[in-house]
Amino acid sequence: MDNFGIQEALAELGLKDINEGTSTGSHHFSNGPLIESYSPVDGKLIGKVKTTTQEDYEKVMETAKAAFKEWRVKPAPVRGEIVRQFGEKLREKKEALGKLVSYEMGKSYQEGLGEVQEMIDICDFAVGLSRQLHGLTMHSERPGHRMYEQYHPLGVVGIISAFNFPVAVWAWNTALAWICGDVCVWKPSEKTPMCGVACQNIAAEVFAENNLPEGICNLINGDYTVGEMMTKDTRVPLVSATGSTRMGKIVAQEVAARLGNSLLELGGNNAIIVTPDADIKMTVIGAVFGAVGTAGQRCTSTRRLIIHDSIYDQVKDAIVKAYEQLRIGNPLDENNHVGPLIDTDAVAMYNAALEKVVAEGGNIVVEGGVLSGEGYESGCYVKPAIAEANNSFEIVQHETFAPVLYLLKYSGDVMNALDIQNGVAQGLSSAIMTNNLREAEAFLSVAGSDCGIANVNIGTSGAEIGGAFGGEKETGGGRESGSDAWKVYMRRQTNTINYTTDLPLAQGIKFDL
Ligand code: NAD
Repeated sequence: MDNFGIQEALAELGLKDINEGTSTGSHHFSNGPLIESYSPVDGKLIGKVKTTTQEDYEKVMETAKAAFKEWRVKPAPVRGEIVRQFGEKLREKKEALGKLVSYEMGKSYQEGLGEVQEMIDICDFAVGLSRQLHGLTMHSERPGHRMYEQYHPLGVVGIISAFNFPVAVWAWNTALAWICGDVCVWKPSEKTPMCGVACQNIAAEVFAENNLPEGICNLINGDYTVGEMMTKDTRVPLVSATGSTRMGKIVAQEVAARLGNSLLELGGNNAIIVTPDADIKMTVIGAVFGAVGTAGQRCTSTRRLIIHDSIYDQVKDAIVKAYEQLRIGNPLDENNHVGPLIDTDAVAMYNAALEKVVAEGGNIVVEGGVLSGEGYESGCYVKPAIAEANNSFEIVQHETFAPVLYLLKYSGDVMNALDIQNGVAQGLSSAIMTNNLREAEAFLSVAGSDCGIANVNIGTSGAEIGGAFGGEKETGGGRESGSDAWKVYMRRQTNTINYTTDLPLAQGIKFDL
């Protein structure tokens, strides 16, 4: 395995000697039982990380609250400068961190590098934004009065993230939260704890170099019970949680019960509509990358292809042919297209989905199966599968986090395809492949896609950080990353200032003494 340079990458990230679960940074507060992280790539132990106990958590929270007092009074562009340095550090460590992401999570090395690039991109975005946290000025109805609004930081932002983007989701949140003046406490997925420690080490270096308290950036480790410490904690005004809809429904209720705010980024059930005017070559590339990239473990992975009946056979044949070319294997080997699933539980869910689609009357057109033998020792490698199905099947209505693609047929107008596309509980990403302006505009119109992301002649996955990212319905409604997503990390205050010697009341109310 080591010919891919994993040991060197671990050393560069300060993870070489953490087999006893120790490391630098706020992580030193953790004293709980060890989590062992095994790579889905080769089944080997990568390292062990100590979990956070309730007592440890209290220390983290005290550190974070103390750091907030210092951080919030730094001018936003000064905070931006720290984020700029963090982005620079990420550039230096891009290969090492990309490799760790690939090895611990199982996505291809290219996608691992892409994930780190997203972190760098959001840092660049945040640096510029640190000079643009604009409020509005309004005209007061009272003479000699000035009215405006300003944004202040919230305090401690809790971040709970999923295994499939083990580093980027944290950066989307922290880079913005930091320039907004917040401090962060991050609970990474218990399936990718080494990525969490690696990021903490990188950030800790930057804060130490600037004589700033590391409590601006905190790491807690463990499963949902550690996440719950934050969701129930009134000291955490915002919990940003990325993961399954099942998790989001619990987190939303916990946080709402104490009237906190939550930012939810949950599951998707993303479709590409393929109309008679589609460019078939582009459709095949977009659909295959969308369905098998990250082994179907992206929240934006393409799950459903909704194809017009007039071109159905042609598209189906082209996609099946493309699947025959796929090479499945070690994701660090750049010759492979598809790596492993995260663990054997995910493999069991993949198998169950394939059984279910057949039981519901679906027709398998590309056989799935679990791979075994040399190179597949982890038991996590599966064949991307395709089934012809019906949108009403229960299994099609659910997100299966694996490379299973459903082919669905529509006839007549593009609005019929939209009914199918929107006819699921989730609302994350959607796409249409067409060169017909009327179809494209109908798809984007008020009566079109009901998703947070709607693309024309691009697949469903691979969003850029410049736009607000997130989805509707059971995807949770949250928005992260670009556009004005920063506003979620701040509290808005309306200020009215009277610079006269009179005290006129609003709405002309008279109150003479
Ligand atoms: P998951 O829901 O099992 O876990 C996600 C995180 O939530 C983990 O850190 C976990 O420990 C924590 N958690 C679980 N229950 C909790 C609770 N009750 N309280 C507090 N924390 C809790 O998800 P996963 O398997 O890691 O990730 C896959 C899912 O994430 C998919 O559904 C995918 O679509 C979704 N996802 C969504 C986005 C998005 O931006 N919309 C991005 C990435 C992943």
